[in-house]
Amino acid sequence: MATAVVRYTAAAVSDRGRKRPTNEDAYGYSVEAGVYLVCDGMGGAAAGEIASTIAVDEVLRLLTHPNPEDGTPLPDAAQNAIGAANEAIFSRAQRNHRLSGMGTTLVALATREQRVWVLNVGDSRCYRFRRGQLQQLTQDHSLVEEQVRLGRMTPREALHSPLKNVITRALGTQSQVTPDVFEFEAEPGDLFLLCSDGLTRELPDSVIQTLLTGDVTLEEFSARLVDAAKKAGGHDNITCLLVRAQA
Ligand code: CA
Repeated sequence: MATAVVRYTAAAVSDRGRKRPTNEDAYGYSVEAGVYLVCDGMGGAAAGEIASTIAVDEVLRLLTHPNPEDGTPLPDAAQNAIGAANEAIFSRAQRNHRLSGMGTTLVALATREQRVWVLNVGDSRCYRFRRGQLQQLTQDHSLVEEQVRLGRMTPREALHSPLKNVITRALGTQSQVTPDVFEFEAEPGDLFLLCSDGLTRELPDSVIQTLLTGDVTLEEFSARLVDAAKKAGGHDNITCLLVRAQA
């Protein structure tokens, strides 16, 4: 029988990239609370940055200081927190027309011992690297990826489509949002990667898999991924958050 996972460690790097004037990605985590998040904001002026920052702050705040009387299971609490973050962004945009239409993606990992839940809205992704193999755990909520899943477009066509930036679900753009929720059992040695599309548009999965191979720290892995995405073009903001499960 495999040894149970008893703890997690994490590290992250977020970079503006080489073309964008600002960084609209945001991330945050609490190893104690078992919550890890990456958000990729969108909207004019500073709106994208505001949306992604509200999402990270609100979800972390709600999950790191839970009411001790409240026995809500973690995945439900995480969904509630995402709903609250959605409302916070939506109402802020309603009150200030300069922020109108702002929104953000969100990908979250929630851990309780060896059980992990992955929640996502939009096209930021979660991958698991296990025994040398990289596997994408989320499905993008993007127009082209949905066409690929329906067999109406090839992955290659999706990559070059003028519609590749269109996402079909976001936080803050509507009064309600429903995240996808996936549940997994972690094994010691598993490495989870949460990232914005500034990484995955620049690097194919095979390259990410190669870059995650070896015996280096999570900080070095994160830096490696971001550097490779910048060398490949760095067209967008790049954020990588790595979480390792350990015995
Ligand atoms: Ca992006």
